[in-house]
Amino acid sequence: MKVQLLPSTFNNCGAASSSQHLTCFVIDDTVAVDAGSLAMAASPIQQQQVRDIVLTHAHLDHIAGLPLFVDDLFPTLSSPVTVYSTESVIETLERDVFNWSVYPRFSELTNDNGPVLVYRTYRPGDAFTVKHLTFRSIEVNHRVPTTGFLISDDQATIAISGDTAEMDEFWDAVNQAEELSAVLLECAFPDELEELARLSHHLTPTRLKSEMAKCTRTDCRFYVVNLKPMHRETIVEQLGKLNIKNLEPLEVGKIYEW
Ligand SMILES: [Zn+2]
Repeated sequence: MKVQLLPSTFNNCGAASSSQHLTCFVIDDTVAVDAGSLAMAASPIQQQQVRDIVLTHAHLDHIAGLPLFVDDLFPTLSSPVTVYSTESVIETLERDVFNWSVYPRFSELTNDNGPVLVYRTYRPGDAFTVKHLTFRSIEVNHRVPTTGFLISDDQATIAISGDTAEMDEFWDAVNQAEELSAVLLECAFPDELEELARLSHHLTPTRLKSEMAKCTRTDCRFYVVNLKPMHRETIVEQLGKLNIKNLEPLEVGKIYEW
């Protein structure tokens, strides 16, 4: 399974930077998990192939690229873009984004080949198939309804926490998975912003350490994602001081193979 966290910002030379403002993972160049920077950073092959997008939740940094992605592809789509998420996330998208005021309601529009945007709902706990991948959704603990996932192909399984604070169900799923190559965990704020992390239901390095104490696995690697760009260096430094084996920040733009 090839997984890439697409970049969302550029350094002062114009090259992709490690700052992560937006979240979009592309798996095997065909399926996206979240769509934060999908329109802005997808490679030509990804733009050509990605028609299935699974959303963890409806926060802007996870969906910003979705309306633009459908817009870019509108005239050329031969099959619709399919968005998978919970009913509540899809309701939010239709009410607050695709409402004709913020952006066109693409779910009501067609091109010469038919619909351009369709939705598939899942409930937390459901397993569903997207292309060659099996997703198992797990409710996590964010300010709005949010799901994390176990994602498997026929070779590997990875876990993605989504945006979250303390959680138990996710760790039960991680601990019980037959085989697991990687766990991608959020850590949005440095320890100094503990109060903000608590209010917005995110993790800090210290709280991440308490979370990882719930994990009984020793056979997989742990990667940290969703580091707020203004605090990236501090978070990385604080994560380093935790001295947790097999824990490192996920490199933005790098293609991981599991
Ligand atoms: Zn969020």
